[in-house]
Amino acid sequence: MHSTASDGSDPPRALPQLARAAGLHAIALTDHDTAVGLHECADACRKHKITFVPGIELSADPAAVRPDRQPTGTLHLLGYFIDPDSPALSEAELHLREARKNRNQRVVERLRELGVNVTYEQVLEQAGGQIVGRPHIARVLIDKGYVRSTHEAFERYLGQRGAAYVHRDRLSPAQAIELIHRAGGIAVLAHPIQLHLEEPEQLDHAMAKLIDLGLDGLEVRHSDHDGSAIRRYQSMAERRNLLITGGSDYHGSQKQVQIASQGLDRAGFERLCDVVKRRTKAEH
Ligand code: AMP
Ligand code: ZN
Repeated sequence: MHSTASDGSDPPRALPQLARAAGLHAIALTDHDTAVGLHECADACRKHKITFVPGIELSADPAAVRPDRQPTGTLHLLGYFIDPDSPALSEAELHLREARKNRNQRVVERLRELGVNVTYEQVLEQAGGQIVGRPHIARVLIDKGYVRSTHEAFERYLGQRGAAYVHRDRLSPAQAIELIHRAGGIAVLAHPIQLHLEEPEQLDHAMAKLIDLGLDGLEVRHSDHDGSAIRRYQSMAERRNLLITGGSDYHGSQKQVQIASQGLDRAGFERLCDVVKRRTKAEH
């Protein structure tokens, strides 16, 4: 799940109650590039008797794993069971925030050059939290009547083919996986479908590279995966001996994804926890 600490619309303390009402027994908070919401969410989980998995979602440069070496598609790495106070992570967060700030300011400049009247302050106000992203810029464009939807905002302005697209410095996949491991977590490839590598050999190439770098798991179940995608990723995970995870990628009102619409069943979650526990023991 995502919270107001990044681009979700619910504060971290509100998520456990929503999860409980949706029938969930365990949740993970995986805000983009930040762990700041984790303590607040953990406290609320204790109150509502929900098992909590502290997490993060790091964006990485896909070029390093794609067979075409192009920076296209989305490569997000989930870190689960991380230490929310990991010094390595806190330090990396500072750099990532700075890179976002530079990118966002340049996007606003481009938009203004294109005659779109938005200011950086309006974007900050829209974001509210520490992580400011393109979804917040999209929201401002919608509120000001320049576009009708987030989809249109990305098509016309903010996406890779948009008129105000600005490249952001991202972690390499190696750095992202190393950071997650240094924070004590397991590294999982999020929503593999968003890599846009639908030829089996292409995806296999990317998976082999990521596994070389220490990838632990694959997000098999996700709101963007239909039945055939789930089967494909499930067999990929089994073949390559990867841990299997799943989640809705709930963002509140920021995205049209229902809470609890995807995830692991109890047995799947227990299997995951068992492996993580065994590994942590082996390391100590
Ligand atoms: P940022 O991290 O600021 O570069 O923004 C990336 C986020 O924007 C992603 O995590 C998605 O939630 C969202 N996003 C990316 N592409 C699109 C798109 N085409 N339509 C809607 N949302 C998108
Ligand atoms: Zn993601």
